[in-house]
Amino acid sequence: MSTEWTRRQVLAQMGIAAAAIHTLDPHELCCVVPAHAQTADKELFELKKVGDGVYAAIAATRYKVNCNAAVIQTNDGVVIVDSHSKPSAAQALYKEIQGITKQPVKKVINTHFHWDHWQGNQVYAAANPGVEVLASERTRENLTRPDAGVGGVPYIEKQLASLPGEIAKLKDDISKATAPDVKARLESNLQQAEAYLQELKSLKPTLPTRTVSSTTTLQEGGREIQLHVLGRGHTNGDLFIYLPKEKVVATGDALIDWMPFLNDGYPEEWPQTLTALEKLDFTSIIPGHGEVRPKSHLAFFRGYLTDLVAAVKKAAADGATLPEMQKSVSDQLAPKYEQGMSKYPVGQYRDRVPVNVEMVYKKVVKKA
Ligand SMILES: [Zn+2]
Ligand SMILES: [Zn+2]
Repeated sequence: MSTEWTRRQVLAQMGIAAAAIHTLDPHELCCVVPAHAQTADKELFELKKVGDGVYAAIAATRYKVNCNAAVIQTNDGVVIVDSHSKPSAAQALYKEIQGITKQPVKKVINTHFHWDHWQGNQVYAAANPGVEVLASERTRENLTRPDAGVGGVPYIEKQLASLPGEIAKLKDDISKATAPDVKARLESNLQQAEAYLQELKSLKPTLPTRTVSSTTTLQEGGREIQLHVLGRGHTNGDLFIYLPKEKVVATGDALIDWMPFLNDGYPEEWPQTLTALEKLDFTSIIPGHGEVRPKSHLAFFRGYLTDLVAAVKKAAADGATLPEMQKSVSDQLAPKYEQGMSKYPVGQYRDRVPVNVEMVYKKVVKKA
């Protein structure tokens, strides 16, 4: 895998369409971050209560994306779902949690292996050497597999190799920028990229200490936490965390409030996995990215995946080329999905459809 492709993947996972990178300066795309997100610069997370002792830590929009976390209090410690892209982000959340409870974090659950969901694990291990890190068996494998995709230990090396180029590009963009607001934003992005590089250099990869290969129920200090293995979707190791009493589910990126990232995914199986999830009795979704959503969001998100696969298959059968179907599918699905999939400055409909179409074309039509 070339460095260029790796960089494209990094950028794509950051919420920037890989297709756009060839034609647009990727850092200009960061400039669509609205004013409120800029002023919230120092606030990495906002803790939102979704049930008694259950919180969603909603990640602020940053140049270097962080995932959401679920924070679950129990009578004898805290359980965290996902640990963000870097130790400093996990540390910031840990500090906020300590404002709620002084109890230790006893378990960290990683929903999948992507970089923005596990690279902060070490913070919880440092705070509590007895912490248990849980994931699915597949996720544990992916975290050490060289070709797993945009996450895991080998992917840290790939990021370390590509970040200096990204930083050089930002510096070059800053030198060319004339508008003061653009310059200021690029400088903020540069500062974030440089700080991220420094953190990555000293990252201590903290891998799962316990894995599950099928649905498992944990009894944690008076609270029931179910870990559901429902099939392949966003990755081959997606884990869904379900609180039956509180009727809350934490989904990682298998269900998010912006456009899905398909590069390590299974477009045809993903909807079935979500249908299995839908059978559970819940009212609130803590998604991997975006705000807490009601259960009805599942059908909307699944609908996009189903319609996307059908549209690409049809276009391919009709003889369309990839660039043609990237345009036609984008337009075709827009009335139903563009608005609902473009609520944030990242992960927007028009930026992501071309990449999604390309992935479905490769994985479903070409069976690559
Ligand atoms: Zn993510
Ligand atoms: Zn992901």
